[in-house]
Amino acid sequence: MYKTVLICFAIMVSSISAFSKVIILGGLFPENDLTQKAFIESINAINQMRIETEEFSDTFFKPEVITITDDVFEVSEGVCTLVGQGIAALFGPHDKVSSTHVQSMCDTMDLPNIVARWDSDLVRMKAINFYPHSETLSLIYLYMVTEFKWEKFTILYDSTEGLIRMSNLLQRWDTKGFPVTLRYLGEGPNYRPILKRVKNSYEENIIIDCSYDILEEVLQQSQQVGILSDRHKIIITSLDLQTLDLDPYSHSGANITGIRLLDPEDPDSLSIFNDYLGKMELEDLSKMRTDWALMFDAIQLFSRAFKQLEEAVEGDVKALACDAIDNWEHGASLSNFIRSTEMKGLTGLIKFHTNGFRSDFKLNIVRLTPDGLKTIGNWNSTNSVEWISEPPPVLAEGELDLANQTFTVVISLLAPFNMLTESTTTKTGNDRYEGFAIDIIHELSKILHFNYTFVEQVDKVTGSPNPKTGKWSGMLGKIIDGEADLAITDLTITSDREKVVDFTMPFMHLGISILYKKPGTAAPSLFSFLSPLSGAVWLCLLGALFVTSLLLLIIGRISPAEWNNPYPCIENPVELSNQFTFSNCLWFTIGSIMQQGSEIAPIGVSTRILATAWWFFCMLMTTSYTANLAAFLTIETIVRPIKSAEDLANLNGKIPYGAKRDGATFKFFQNLVHLKGSNYSTYVKMYQYMKDHPEVMTVDNDEGRIRASNEDYAFLMESSMIDYVAQRDCNLTQIGGQLDNKGYGIAMRKNFPYRNKLNTAVLQMQESGILSELKKKWWNEKRGGGSCSSESAGSAVKELTLDNVGGVFLVLVVGVSLTLVMSALEMITDVFSFSRKQKVSFRQELKKELKFLIKCRGNVKPARHARRTSSQSDSTRDTSPPYGFVPTVITTTHPEEP
Ligand code: GLU
Repeated sequence: MYKTVLICFAIMVSSISAFSKVIILGGLFPENDLTQKAFIESINAINQMRIETEEFSDTFFKPEVITITDDVFEVSEGVCTLVGQGIAALFGPHDKVSSTHVQSMCDTMDLPNIVARWDSDLVRMKAINFYPHSETLSLIYLYMVTEFKWEKFTILYDSTEGLIRMSNLLQRWDTKGFPVTLRYLGEGPNYRPILKRVKNSYEENIIIDCSYDILEEVLQQSQQVGILSDRHKIIITSLDLQTLDLDPYSHSGANITGIRLLDPEDPDSLSIFNDYLGKMELEDLSKMRTDWALMFDAIQLFSRAFKQLEEAVEGDVKALACDAIDNWEHGASLSNFIRSTEMKGLTGLIKFHTNGFRSDFKLNIVRLTPDGLKTIGNWNSTNSVEWISEPPPVLAEGELDLANQTFTVVISLLAPFNMLTESTTTKTGNDRYEGFAIDIIHELSKILHFNYTFVEQVDKVTGSPNPKTGKWSGMLGKIIDGEADLAITDLTITSDREKVVDFTMPFMHLGISILYKKPGTAAPSLFSFLSPLSGAVWLCLLGALFVTSLLLLIIGRISPAEWNNPYPCIENPVELSNQFTFSNCLWFTIGSIMQQGSEIAPIGVSTRILATAWWFFCMLMTTSYTANLAAFLTIETIVRPIKSAEDLANLNGKIPYGAKRDGATFKFFQNLVHLKGSNYSTYVKMYQYMKDHPEVMTVDNDEGRIRASNEDYAFLMESSMIDYVAQRDCNLTQIGGQLDNKGYGIAMRKNFPYRNKLNTAVLQMQESGILSELKKKWWNEKRGGGSCSSESAGSAVKELTLDNVGGVFLVLVVGVSLTLVMSALEMITDVFSFSRKQKVSFRQELKKELKFLIKCRGNVKPARHARRTSSQSDSTRDTSPPYGFVPTVITTTHPEEP
C-alpha cells in the first residue's frame, strides 16, 4: 500500500516537472458561487487535454481563487495578493462596482482581466467580457416584438440600468406606433401590486426584464395574479430562463418566449458537459447558468491565446506589486491574442469584434410548451432569424391545465345569481358577493383548482351589438375584448351570442313564460246556483225533461193498462180514460226531478219502466248537482283574465305586457318575425305590440316584477326567474306553460382553451347534485324563499260538464228504449188476447187501436164491445180503476121495475 502511494506521488511529481512551467490563473469570486467551480473545472479540463490536444501549450495552469465580498477594499487586497504571486490573468469579479475597480487596477498593471457578466456600458471596457453586449442583445428583443406583431406592450423592469436592453424597442415605439407602457416592478419581494395593475390594464403583451435573482419570484406572483393566462404573451429577457423550474408555468396556457445562449441540445456542448463538468453536480446542461458557462469558455479561450503568446514571445509571468508602479510587459499582447482567438465553446462560437465585444454569437429563441422549452428559432447577432417552425400553438384545446390560473369573472347584480353579501362587517374582494352564480364559480374553482376575481358590471348590461359598428357592449363586450375571462349571471345561451362568444353547457334549464298576478276570486253571483252544471248540461236536462214527458204521454197511450174505466161503478163503460195527458206527464217528470212526486202513478209495465229510468236519472242528477253546489258555495270562484300567451295576445293590449329590453326573451319574439311561413302568428303579434309600445319594455327583471306586482301588467320572463319571484311575492305567479326551452351558461371568449374542462366540471356538478342543491338553497331557502310555496292558485271547483254526467243521460236513454219495446209488446198482447177471446180479427183490432193512437185525440177512448158480461171477463183491463183494484159491483133490481 505504502509502495503504491509512493509510486503515484513519484509519477505526479515527474509529470509536473516534465512540463515544468506552471502558470497561475487568479480568480475573484463570491463565496459559494458556482462560477468559481466552473473556473476550476475548466482549468482542470485544460490540464487534462493539453497532452493530447495541440491547441494547448504544455503549460500547467494552476487556479488561485480568492473569495470576495462586496467590500471594494477587500477586493483590492485580494487583487494585490494574487498579482503578488505572479498570475497570467485575473478572472472576475462579477459585481459591477468591484469589477470597475479591479479593471482599473489591472489596466495599470497591463494584466488581462476577464469577466463574464452583463454590462450596460456602451463603450468598450478594458476588461475582456464574454457576455454578449447589451446593445446587441437589445436587437433580438426588437426583432421578436416585430416578428410577433405586437402593436402595444408593457415592459416590466427592475432597474433603470436594465432598461438599456430595451433601448432599441423604446426608440422604435417612442414616437410612432402603438403605446409602450413601462412599469417598474418595485423593490420586492412583493411585486403583486404592480402585476395587478398590468392585469387591470388588460395588457396582453408583456416583456419581463428583470434580474435572474428575482425572476422566479416574479413569475410565481404573475401566475398568482393572473397574467400568465392563455391570453397573455410573455417575453422573458433573461438568458437563464431555462435554468428555472418552468413546470408550474408550462400548463398555464400563457405564450412564454425566452432566449438562451447555451443550447443544452448541442452535441458538442453536451460532450464537454459530460466529460468535464460532472463535478458541478448539475442535473443536466440546461441547468448551467450563462455566466458559469461563459467562465468555462473564458478559460478555454485563454489557454489557446496563451499558447500563441508563448509561441510569440519568450518570457514568463511576473509577480507584481500593487504599491509600486509595475506592469507586465506581455499583458497587453495576451489581451490582444485573447480578442483575436476564435473557438467553439459551451456557449457556441466565441469571437470578438474589433469593438471588443463578442460577435457572431447565436441565441436560441425558445417557447415554453408542456414538454419544456422548445427552440422555435435561432437568432444570429448579424440580426437574422432562422425560424425552425411556426411558433407552436401553446397547447391543444382540452389539454390545458387550469390549476393556478386566475380568471376575471364579470358578474352583474341580480338576485339570486349575484348579490351583495349581507353582513354587518365590510367585505372586500370576492367576499363582497354571494349568490347562485357566485357559488357555481366557487364550486368550479374547487374542481379545477383555478383562482378567480369578480368584476362587477355596474350598469348590468348583458350586451348587444352596436348596429353601426357591430361592437358588443356590456358583459359580453368585456369577454370579447379580453377584459374578462368568464361572465356569469342569468345569461341565456342564444345563437346570436354563440356567434361571438363560447358558452359552457347550460347550468340551468328554463323557458319563457308569463309573470302575472295570481287569479283573483269572483264576487258572489246572483245566479251562482246555476254554476254546478255547465250550460250544455242544463240544456240537455231541459231537453230530457220534455222528451221524457212526451215519451210518457205516448207510451201511456200505447200501454193498454193505462186505459181504464173512469166510472168503476159502471160495469161496461162506453169509454175508457187515460191519466197521461201532456200536462200530467210534465207534472210527473217535474215532480220527480224536484224530488216531490205527483199524484200520477203509472200502471203499465212500460210506463213503470220509463218512470223508473227517469227517477234513477233524477236521483243521479240531483245528487251530483247538490254535491257540486256545496263545493261551489264553500270555495270561491277563481277569475283568470289570462291563461296563456294566446289570451294575452288576443286582448290586444288591454292587459299591457312587455319583456326586458334587448334581453333574450325579447330576441325570441324578434327572431320569429324573420321565420317565413312560421305559424307563430301569436308571438309575431306580441312582438309587434312590444315594438310599437316601448313603454311596456323594462330595463331589467326587477322593474318587470315591480310592474307586474303593482299594475295590471304581464311580464314575459324566464321561468327560473318567475319561480324565484313567485316564491317571494305571493301576489305573483306563472301563467301558462313555457313558450320555448333554453338554458343559462357561462360565457367565455371564442375558442377559450379551458372550455372543455369547464364543461366537464359543469356536468360533474350536475351529476353529483351540486347544482340542484345550490338551486334549492338560493331559490327555496335563502332570502325569503318558500314564503308562498304552499299556496295553490288552481284549486277552483269546476262545473259539471256533459263529460261528467253523460252516463246519467245514457241511463235515461236505455230506460226509454226499454219502455218503447215494452209498450209495443203490451199493446200487441192485449189486442191479441182480446181478438182471440172475442173471436174477432186481430189485424182489424190492431188497426183500430193504432188508428186511435195516431189520431191522438184526447185521453178518452171508446171501450171495445164485449160479447160477454163484464163478470165473465177474466180481465179487469176495461173496468179497473187507476188504483189497481176492482170494486165489488152489486147489481140490484129497482123495486118499481118489472
Ligand atoms: N336572461 C336574459 C338574457 O340573457 C335576460 C332576461 C330576459 O330577457 O328575460 O338576456
